[in-house]
Amino acid sequence: MAFGSPKIYKTPAELRLMVRPGVVTAGSLTAVRAAIRPGITTRELDAIAEVSIRAAGGVPNFMKEPGYSHTLCVSINDEIVHGVPGDRVVQPGDLVSVDCGADVDGWNGDAAFSVVVPDPTRPELVAARQELADVTEHSLWAGIAELARVPRLNEVGAAIEDAVDARGTFGIVEDYVGHGIGRSMHEDPPVFNFRVQQPGPRVKPGLVVAIEPMITRGGVNSHVLADGWTVATDDGADAAHWEHSVAVHDGGIWVLTAEDGGANGLASFGVVPTPIG
Ligand code: MG
Ligand code: MG
Repeated sequence: MAFGSPKIYKTPAELRLMVRPGVVTAGSLTAVRAAIRPGITTRELDAIAEVSIRAAGGVPNFMKEPGYSHTLCVSINDEIVHGVPGDRVVQPGDLVSVDCGADVDGWNGDAAFSVVVPDPTRPELVAARQELADVTEHSLWAGIAELARVPRLNEVGAAIEDAVDARGTFGIVEDYVGHGIGRSMHEDPPVFNFRVQQPGPRVKPGLVVAIEPMITRGGVNSHVLADGWTVATDDGADAAHWEHSVAVHDGGIWVLTAEDGGANGLASFGVVPTPIG
């Protein structure tokens, strides 16, 4: 991951330009989520995402990554992130993590979700995987809520860690972290999903970050598969991944890649998102 941008904080005008790519990214993920079912291939999900983004006037920004030619990453079960769409067929009971990004007019969105495909024959497996997905989503919202009220960015990671630990024994992947986002999908600063020593940059208007906890049922060590992309847990434990791109602006925070700006996800934390004016 390249952290190339020299400038962390966006101007108000630049923040306004980041609204549309967030909305287009969210719309694409909604379309994919509705299509996930046993029997569909990850390539078919990828096609749905690409059609959605292009119909909305965007470009799939994952395709701008050197050597990557897909709209999505689809990571299943023990795969953490960067799963490559292809012939793989989604099965009942699968834990499916979908990551997507759209570029609109040179500005980027980036978001991900995890869902469990229903399997009436394996209720315990489905429940365990759903719990993992829920813990991961909850930790994301805890981190976003923290962003709304702390002076320094790295407190977000502490909040994510605490939210995960409060729910049981899970692993927080450290090999991959969140990031600033703007003209490029991956910019400074890194956004940790765990407690670190340094305070990190100031949280103030203009900061836009993709927060993306990756949580496992077991260990946190990972390896890249033979395809050169897919990252899987070393111990074979399940992994989930949730992500949103979030802007800090003069009026508060706004979750760019949530269709409601994050209102629903933040409600239990007492945080009300404010649209970018
Ligand atoms: Mg992503
Ligand atoms: Mg990201």
